[in-house]
Amino acid sequence: MRIELLTVGEAFQDLIFMSLPRLPRLGEELRTPHFVATIGGGAVITATAAARLGMRSAIVSALSADAARALRGDRVSVVNVRRPGEPHAITVALSTSADRSFVTFNGVNDRLQARLPAAVARRRAAHVHFAFSPADCARWAAIAERLRTRGTTTSWDFGWDPALPARDLFWRLVRAVDFVFVNEIEATAYAGVRRRDEAARFWAAAARNVVIKLGARGSHWIAAGIGVRAAAPRVRPVDTTGAGDAFNGGFLYGLLRGRTRRDCLRLGNFVGARSTLAAGGVASLPRRRELPS
Ligand code: ADP
Repeated sequence: MRIELLTVGEAFQDLIFMSLPRLPRLGEELRTPHFVATIGGGAVITATAAARLGMRSAIVSALSADAARALRGDRVSVVNVRRPGEPHAITVALSTSADRSFVTFNGVNDRLQARLPAAVARRRAAHVHFAFSPADCARWAAIAERLRTRGTTTSWDFGWDPALPARDLFWRLVRAVDFVFVNEIEATAYAGVRRRDEAARFWAAAARNVVIKLGARGSHWIAAGIGVRAAAPRVRPVDTTGAGDAFNGGFLYGLLRGRTRRDCLRLGNFVGARSTLAAGGVASLPRRRELPS
């Protein structure tokens, strides 16, 4: 069966300690009755979001046995590049009503990027979405360019990595992919500007298409001569972890099913907003029947 969406990137076991009265002081132990253990990472959340909407989705990642099982339960086809005995990555999140702090154990993710190109080459898909900060931009630009020549479209969500814009050939990689996803902070920081309008002008020239995620304000699609916006639905967020990756899944569902630009943004906003209604990135992702008509 032809895969519509292949996601590629890191996975984490997310251990979320919620409703803390404050972040702990040095040497202090806080207790909370609210705890969630779930799966996270951009590739996992985006693949799950798209699969829940009925997309034929696959993932290439280094996954724990639990994560692989959960993904298969959501009908995501799994290529697990973690080898027996290698520890999976774990993130601990401490969450108060106002703040969050994280600690991550990298585990197998330190060795992930070297294994991805061969795994991506073996799996055909209509669209490949990358969700990690690339160490070797030249190599990934060449891979994205090769995918295009065989008719595969691509997107990339780099996440937050302040070292990225100065990395060799990063901007060639940005040019090589069809869509770049950024949030507002990334949009201005990577562009090296302060103001939103400057960032919009910069990205229109630097990328084929950029989608800027604006939190509760929705999202903005920018390309040469094109600027389309859509407002987000109003929700009362419980936890915004993974909202950006959930957005990507909804947006790509619209894109690959031939929806208009505004509808792609609306689908992304809907799925992103829904993901904030429960802790972690995947628990409250909607199914197709729940989409607004
Ligand atoms: P990231 O998680 O990458 O920082 P955002 O915070 O911009 O990205 O969230 C991604 C998307 O999720 C937004 O574009 C929006 O569609 C949706 N979203 C996030 N927070 C809210 C919110 N408080 N209300 C409604 N939608 C939201």
